[in-house]
Amino acid sequence: MDYPGNLFVVAAPSGAGKSSLCKALLELDSRLQPSVSHTTRPPRGQEKHGREYFFVSQQEFDAMVEADAFVEWANVHANRYGTSKKAIEDRMAMGADVILEIDFQGAVQIKNTFANAVCIFILPPSWEELRSRLERRGEDSPDIIDMRMNNAQREVAQVGQFDFVIINELFDRALFDLKAIVHSQRLKISAQRRARAQIFQALNIL
Ligand code: 5GP
Repeated sequence: MDYPGNLFVVAAPSGAGKSSLCKALLELDSRLQPSVSHTTRPPRGQEKHGREYFFVSQQEFDAMVEADAFVEWANVHANRYGTSKKAIEDRMAMGADVILEIDFQGAVQIKNTFANAVCIFILPPSWEELRSRLERRGEDSPDIIDMRMNNAQREVAQVGQFDFVIINELFDRALFDLKAIVHSQRLKISAQRRARAQIFQALNIL
């Protein structure tokens, strides 16, 4: 599928800082739009249906899988999460750049469907720092933190399947890196040809 917009996929073990980085990037970059995923996990804290996620029942999720409504979906930390086709294809067709914050299994599925997708993996600087970030976040019980740490070992082993890696040691540096990746993707010839097709035509560039 060839859309004028670019597709960025950001994956990371939980606690590596993916959400904060994507949020900061979205505030700085009005050409980027987030995709809102569907999940079977219940809302946390102030989360609102349709903003952070579409919170759906197992049956609703099953029905969407059955209807082939997802570009990718995966089991993550005992819940299901999926990116609907609707969440990204309309926006990309209109020329918007879309950013997905998903787990590594979803990123690999996206790459199979959208060969042009730019897949970025965020690493923590160390295991100790990852655990202490999860503890400082205060959202999860010690059991859940242990589960997230175990999953993280499996997840980081997949880094070789990604196009870029950012080590989130200093937030500002990591954000700078993320902006640089987005910017250089937009300047690629293939992306410029898709986004600025009229200029290429007017210049008689085939
Ligand atoms: P959380 O429950 O903490 O919001 O998210 C748990 C994990 O699920 C995170 O790694 C998050 O990026 C991932 N996730 C969120 N939405 C999707 C999605 O649509 N697809 C996949 N594969 N993973 C997702």
